[in-house]
Amino acid sequence: MVKLSKEMGKEALVKDLKKILGEDKVKAEDFFRELYSYDATPIPIRERKRPLCVVFPTSVEEVQEVVKFCYKNEVAMFPRGAGSGLTGGSVPTREGVVISLERLKKIKIDQRNSLAVAQAGVITKDLQDEAERFGLFYPPDPSSYKYSTVGGNLAENSGGPRCLKYGVTREYVLELEAVIKEGERIRVGNPVIKNVAGYDLTKFLVGSEGTLGIITEAVLKLIPKPKSRGTLLLYLKDVSLTGDAVVEIFSRGILPSALEFLDQNCLKLLGVDGNYGGALIVEVDGECVKEQVETLKEALKDFGKVLVAKDKTEEDKIWSLRRSLGPTLAKISSGKINEDVVVPRSELSRTLKEVEGIAKRFNLKVATFGHIGDGNLHVNFLYNKKNKDEEERAERAVEELFDFVISVGGSITGEHGVGITKREFLKKQLGEGVYNLMLEVKKIFDPKFLFNPGKLFKVSP
Ligand SMILES: Cc1cc2nc3c(=O)[nH]c(=O)nc-3n(C[C@H](O)[C@H](O)[C@H](O)COP(=O)(O)OP(=O)(O)OC[C@H]3O[C@@H](n4cnc5c(N)ncnc54)[C@H](O)[C@@H]3O)c2cc1C
Repeated sequence: MVKLSKEMGKEALVKDLKKILGEDKVKAEDFFRELYSYDATPIPIRERKRPLCVVFPTSVEEVQEVVKFCYKNEVAMFPRGAGSGLTGGSVPTREGVVISLERLKKIKIDQRNSLAVAQAGVITKDLQDEAERFGLFYPPDPSSYKYSTVGGNLAENSGGPRCLKYGVTREYVLELEAVIKEGERIRVGNPVIKNVAGYDLTKFLVGSEGTLGIITEAVLKLIPKPKSRGTLLLYLKDVSLTGDAVVEIFSRGILPSALEFLDQNCLKLLGVDGNYGGALIVEVDGECVKEQVETLKEALKDFGKVLVAKDKTEEDKIWSLRRSLGPTLAKISSGKINEDVVVPRSELSRTLKEVEGIAKRFNLKVATFGHIGDGNLHVNFLYNKKNKDEEERAERAVEELFDFVISVGGSITGEHGVGITKREFLKKQLGEGVYNLMLEVKKIFDPKFLFNPGKLFKVSP
């Protein structure tokens, strides 16, 4: 393992970084070191370390200076946006410096070309709001959009309810600026829709979880804002009808802008009356919304009870069911492992049955919801944090779940990334050959393994 070079103790490091950035951009007080050693991961991270200090660069040049300094002195760097990650991605795993991008906040909209130029620390919602002021739309919408950053969304290739129709963050990235080994600044891609010159390093950096370098700016594609929207709620007669209901929606030629699922346990937790097997929230947008809603009402009537939102208040009421799930689960259970597995749509019904089976075998409570239109399920195994045996059973249940999704051609993560918590399973999904190829790529961008060590891969050089 690479350690802070002997000649340089913590005090000397902080002093030098303050010389580079100025006093107010380097924080070494315990309060900051503790605060920036966490993200939103709901399970304890055993490797969590307090960073030596946290730095807050305000320009790409400052990021370059910090990276150059850290690379020369072999100091590990932990890039960080808002710390809303759910797999320990920005959690320091060893002695090093947290590089917070939160002060890189500039946004510029280029209306003529339907583009946004956003620095890494821009909050996703601020970007969406700014685009809307120009009648444009930035669709990527992780549920954390009110506080997560563009840099974090890019590093995780984040998605949300709208991915089904509009795609994930990667689909909107045209050009990226990043700082890699030795402080080298690169710009990859071009601010154009079509560009096939050479390897697509732009898309490659997206989803790299801070392990290849630090993203400082992105040129993002914007699209026209959809004119109107319609929302339906289907209470399913039986959970076994879920997969067929989803298939029915698509077979009517409709591509919803969002298609969310809540299982029976979720409905019970939310206090929904009636003995339903689960629920689907279907949202459509764009042109001919009324016709689309009518088609859906007809298509779904045999699957259960269909409710159509008449206005924005009713729409919000339907969506509040989905949005209140996270906090509700946190209230009823001290511990939860929230996974974000993905399976082919044709395997959805089998997967939901399997989840119930796993929960039964390990004697655990489970609540499942998620973006079912793209096969992405948030499976929450609940446990009591004080009950070690139950916690261990929850961990084993997750292993079985991962084995199952891999066996049906799915993925261990559709949104939250690998980080620390899913690192052990990456090789299983990719296979030895592809896993090693990824390691080779890592070595090209970061030969000393100083960018976000311990994430994606456990190994050090
Ligand atoms: C309530 C809640 C709901 C969520 N819902 C969703 C959802 O619907 N969909 C979804 O995909 N995710 C979701 N997430 C997870 C999380 O919000 C996303 O992964 C988000 O993109 C992280 O952004 P951040 O700015 O908080 O990044 P951080 O958590 O700070 O960092 C995430 C990763 O990105 C790296 N990183 C951050 N900035 C940079 C940069 N500039 N350059 C290089 N690497 C960088 C970090 O090192 C880390 O590995 C949710 C989280 C919460 C708490």
